[in-house]
Amino acid sequence: MALSPSEQVAEALREFAERIDVFDPLPGPAVAEIRVGERTVPLRAPVAKAFAEALRAYQDPRDRGTCDHCGGPRLDDNFVCADCGRPSGVFGQLLQERAARYEGPAELPD
Ligand SMILES: [Zn+2]
Repeated sequence: MALSPSEQVAEALREFAERIDVFDPLPGPAVAEIRVGERTVPLRAPVAKAFAEALRAYQDPRDRGTCDHCGGPRLDDNFVCADCGRPSGVFGQLLQERAARYEGPAELPD
C-alpha cells in the first residue's frame, strides 16, 4: 500500500533519526518531537541538531541564485528572471544574445 504524503514525510524523518541514532549508542531523552499527520517522531539531541543542519544546508535544484537586476530569486533554465524578465549574469546575457542570432536550421535542398 502506498504511503500518503504525510506518512512519507514521517517515514523519512523516522529513517533519518534512526540513521543518526546509530552513532550514539547511549539513548538520551528526546529534546523535540515533530508531529506529521497522525505520527509523532521524537528527536534526541544529536538528531535534532543534524536535522536543523540538514534543513539549513538544503538547496532547491531550481535555485539558480538571484537576479543581478532586481534581486529576485526566480531565475529560469535560461537565467531569465521571472520577476523583471531580464537575463541575469554574463551567462544569461550570452544565452539571450545567442538566441537572438539563431535563425533556425538551414533549409534542405529539394
Ligand atoms: Zn530580475
